[in-house]
Amino acid sequence: MTAHHSQPGRKPGQHFLQIPGPTIVPGRIEQAMTAPIIDHRGPEFSALTLRIGEGLKSIFKTENPVVVFPGSGTGAWEAALVNTMSAGERVLTVETGQFSLLWETMARKLGLDTQVIETDWRTGVDANAVEAALNADTDKTIKAVCIVHNETATGCRSWVEEIRAALDAAKHPALLMVDTVSSLGVMDYQHDSWGVDVTVCGSQKGMMLPPGLSFTAVSDKAIAASKAANLPRSYFSWDEMLVANPKGFFPYTPATSLLYGLEEAIKMMHEEGLDAIFARHDLLAAGVRAAVEGWGLEILCKDPKYYSPAVTAVKMPEGHDADKFRKIALDTYNIALGTGLNRLAGKVFRIGHLADTNQLTIMGALAGVELGLEAAGVPHEKNGLNAAMAVFAKANKSAGITSAAA
Ligand code: PLP
Repeated sequence: MTAHHSQPGRKPGQHFLQIPGPTIVPGRIEQAMTAPIIDHRGPEFSALTLRIGEGLKSIFKTENPVVVFPGSGTGAWEAALVNTMSAGERVLTVETGQFSLLWETMARKLGLDTQVIETDWRTGVDANAVEAALNADTDKTIKAVCIVHNETATGCRSWVEEIRAALDAAKHPALLMVDTVSSLGVMDYQHDSWGVDVTVCGSQKGMMLPPGLSFTAVSDKAIAASKAANLPRSYFSWDEMLVANPKGFFPYTPATSLLYGLEEAIKMMHEEGLDAIFARHDLLAAGVRAAVEGWGLEILCKDPKYYSPAVTAVKMPEGHDADKFRKIALDTYNIALGTGLNRLAGKVFRIGHLADTNQLTIMGALAGVELGLEAAGVPHEKNGLNAAMAVFAKANKSAGITSAAA
C-alpha cells in the first residue's frame, strides 16, 4: 500500500448517528468542553455551578434544586429510588417498554415490592389504569408511581399531566417519579406545575451532551420523603448535594468538562427557545412518520396520541430481520439506526429525530433508510422522501419561511 491509497475502512463524509441517543454533540458544546480544568473548590467553579443550577431549573421548569450526578440515566433512577424509599415498600410502574421494565427491575433488585401495569409495548401510559390501581390500593401501600415520559424503546410517549390527574382523582399520596431521559429538551416538561416529585434525566439525548451526567429535579415532598427513607445510599445521596450545590460546590469531584458543556447547552436552548425546540421536534417527527407511511411500513406506536417527538420505531415486514437491515444500512451508507430491544429485537428499527437536528439532516437520514431498505431487499414503496419533504415544505410555507416571491 502506498500513501496514495485510502486507509482501509475510512468512511468519508458525515456519519449519520440516528439512534435515539446518544445524539450528535454540536460543535459549540464540544468547543466549550475543551476549556482548561479549574479548581473545583475555587470561586470560578462556584459561579459556574450556580449558573448551571439556575439554567437547569429553567429547563425542568422548577423552582426547586436539580441535582447533578456524574453517571448516566440509570444512576439517576437509582438515586430516585434509594433517596425516597424504604426496604420492602411498594412502587407502581407501567411497563410501556424496555426502559420502564429496567427501572422496575432495578426497584426489585433494591428490595422494593413492585406492582406492574402491563402493556403491549405499542402505546403510552393509560392514566385510567393508573387511577384504577391507585383506587384499589385502599391501604395506600403504594409509595411511588414510576413512569417513563418517552419510552425510547418503542417510540411511544406518555402524558404526565394525565397521570398527575389520576393520582389527584384517587386522592393518593404516592410520590410521582418521571423518567425524562429521552424527553427533556424534546417535548414540553413542567416539573413543578405537573406536580412531579422526582424527575430524572441524562445528558446524552435532548440535552445534546456526551453521556456522563444525570439530572434529578426534586420536589419538597420528595426531599421530605428522603429524610424518612431507609434504603442504603451513599454516592447517590441527595443530602450532601443539596447542601453543597447552593454554595456552588459538589461533595466530590464533579465532571468539570461536562459541566462546561452543560452551560453551553443551556445557553443554546435559551437562544432557540424551549417552545421553538418542541415545535421543531414535532415537525421533524411528523416528517419521519410521513416517510414511514410513504414506504408502506408500519409505525410501532399504534395510537397517534402517543407518537413520540423524539424517536419513531418502525416495524419490519414479516420475514425480514431489522438488525440485518441495520447492518447493511450502516455498512453501505454509514448510518446508525436504533436496534430493537428485548422482545422487539429484530422486529423493529428506530429512527432517532432528536437533539441538534434539522429538516435536511432528517432528509439525509431518511434517504439512508430508504437506500438501506433497497440494499437489504426489504419490500417498500418509494414514496417516503417525497412525503417527508411535503410535510416540511407545507410547514415552512405556513410559517412564512418560503420566500414571498415563491
Ligand atoms: N430511560 C430511558 C427512557 C432511556 O432511553 C435510557 C437509555 O437509553 C435510560 C433510561 C437509561 O439511561 P442510561 O443509558 O443513560 O443509563
